[in-house]
Amino acid sequence: MQGTRARLERSVFGGGAEGLLDGKGKIRRDHLRRALALIGSDDSVTRASLARLTGLTTATTSSLVNELIALGLVVEGEQAESTGGKPGTRVELNRAYYVVCVVIVRAQSVEAVLLDLSGTRVLTRVTTYASGVQPADVARVTGELVRDFPDRVLAVCLQSPGVTDGAVVRESVLLGWRDVPLAELVRAEADLPIVILNDADGEALTESVIDEAAGVQRLVLRMGEGIGAAVTIDGRVLPGATNRAGEIGHVAFGGNGSRVRCRCGGYGCIEAVASLTAILGPDFHDELEPEGVQALLRADGAEDRMLLGAESVAAALRILSGLTDPHEIVIVGRAPLLGEPFLTAVRSGFEQNRPKGTASPPIRYAHDSDPALGPGRHVLGSVLGVALMRPSART
Ligand SMILES: [Zn+2]
Repeated sequence: MQGTRARLERSVFGGGAEGLLDGKGKIRRDHLRRALALIGSDDSVTRASLARLTGLTTATTSSLVNELIALGLVVEGEQAESTGGKPGTRVELNRAYYVVCVVIVRAQSVEAVLLDLSGTRVLTRVTTYASGVQPADVARVTGELVRDFPDRVLAVCLQSPGVTDGAVVRESVLLGWRDVPLAELVRAEADLPIVILNDADGEALTESVIDEAAGVQRLVLRMGEGIGAAVTIDGRVLPGATNRAGEIGHVAFGGNGSRVRCRCGGYGCIEAVASLTAILGPDFHDELEPEGVQALLRADGAEDRMLLGAESVAAALRILSGLTDPHEIVIVGRAPLLGEPFLTAVRSGFEQNRPKGTASPPIRYAHDSDPALGPGRHVLGSVLGVALMRPSART
């Protein structure tokens, strides 16, 4: 299989292909994408059923399948059940070869993950940095992992706290970074397509993979050491003019926490009142195990701080929801560890002061799922032009 990725790179799926394809080439590429999407969404596809589903001739679909096999994206599977005629051979995603690399950057750790084409996690490497993660650490960890799987990694998605335009981390208070050209630094170690996502956007995309319904507009609030928000429409994140849509951590939404001093110098910022560090104390960090979070929740004063945080979150959600009118509001990040009491307080706070004329969308926690899924599917989609990876939630 060695050299297969190079063949893929020279194919219609290659990064340089777009400008070179003529009309016929574009039609062929679209057919290949359609065939790959159908094979990825259903394990019982055969060459014959692919012809029926696409309306193309059997000869054409067969040649599409042959090309996808040669590119290492698809393999022949078992014999399909006979439906009267000659049973066909199933064609399936090749789960054993290509992977995408998702690197989740937190304040004190880097979690590097490989996902196969179906979204299954095949490898996890966590490296911790007690004195904080530096950009060079991210580049080194990514480079090592990609070199350990030669020819097999299709693309890299880096998920980082802070503001990013997809290539540069413009500003992260949590990491202490400013204008870090992270994609360029990582590319020096791993010459692959690289995309950077903000952590709230990444988790919002994961929620879209797990709970996908056409046309759904979702308001997502991420709570951890920091606080950020994202709006997804039909599985896509609203970026904003300067990639700062959802940067609400240092907005003060009023209420009883408005005198709390924030590390940014301001007062009453939602991050100073409702981040998990604000609620659980300085011993909380995004890497803390659930048992550690539970222990902090039992500490003196934690319940009062949680209720204060819920009030601030409810105030923020009233404004953000009034503005975006979402189908639902989903709280992601580490907040689900706060359990039902927090969610109940947010829901009742939201309803108590809900302005006239605004809707009352359901508010829930995120599904329990692999956080690498959203970033993985996002970057795979940007390379292949097909949204693969559709696993279901763990709960
Ligand atoms: Zn602040």
